[in-house]
Amino acid sequence: MAASFSARVKAEICRTFPQKKCCALAQCFGVLLYCNSFGAEGIKIITESREFAQLLPRLFHRALGVEFDQLPDLAAPGKLVFQIDRREKLERILEAFGFGRDTLALHVNLPVVEEDCCKAAFLRGAFLAGGSVTDPEKGYHLEIGTGHHSVARETYALMEEVLGFYPKTAARGGTQVLYLKQSDLICDCLTYLGAPVSAMGILEARMEKELNNKVNRRCNCDDANLSKVVEAAQEQLSAIRTLRERGLLEHLPQKLREAAAAREADPEASLTELAAMMEPPISKPAMSSRMKKLVQAAKEASQ
Ligand SMILES: [Zn+2]
Repeated sequence: MAASFSARVKAEICRTFPQKKCCALAQCFGVLLYCNSFGAEGIKIITESREFAQLLPRLFHRALGVEFDQLPDLAAPGKLVFQIDRREKLERILEAFGFGRDTLALHVNLPVVEEDCCKAAFLRGAFLAGGSVTDPEKGYHLEIGTGHHSVARETYALMEEVLGFYPKTAARGGTQVLYLKQSDLICDCLTYLGAPVSAMGILEARMEKELNNKVNRRCNCDDANLSKVVEAAQEQLSAIRTLRERGLLEHLPQKLREAAAAREADPEASLTELAAMMEPPISKPAMSSRMKKLVQAAKEASQ
């Protein structure tokens, strides 16, 4: 099975490993605040991204000097679960982010994301742990979700600060979701997170979609023109029939009789084609004028 777009984005983001300790800590913080559970009772991170799974132990080691108590088998298919449940490790981690043992509500501790480099690292971690982005061929949607209300509120402000636009917000069950729906904003966000190749993929998908729409519109337009031509031809044929039935056709000038004969010989021909059939050929406006005269004559005869 081909990797989902989300999986490809995450793989691309994981190519950037935080060089500075401050960024490693900030990225870890983003992961923890957006992962499946983080608190004094334990840490649980569940992911399907192999690249993220490879990055996690290194990241936690670099940022906190902490190893996971439970590591997944990377060779196994499906979801990968990482856990930390030893009390002393949990306390150390909470303390590193400025939380006491009895902290009730987690929030984005500002000193951790003070530097610009750390802001990006934090959002990268948040997206890797709690984010997803829809395949641009199916639609434009990027979101990150957390169970912590204050965290969502603070991330909202952080995104505006670094990206220059606010995400949209929604509550889904106990999860606070921040999301983007516009392709250009998703592009900007992915580029910021360190996934410019994926961002380009979104742009390409959008251009292809726009091109297809244009072609479709053009076809519809051609169809509309075609049906107008058919309608006009029907009107002309019915006029010619009326004129014949009333014995008027043979009394018309020769030019009009020739035009009528050409139309009956080829009901689907365009005016240009009919004009070319005349001996000698005439212009399209001249043919148009002859057809109008036929239709007019039939109308007068019917009155
Ligand atoms: Zn930093």
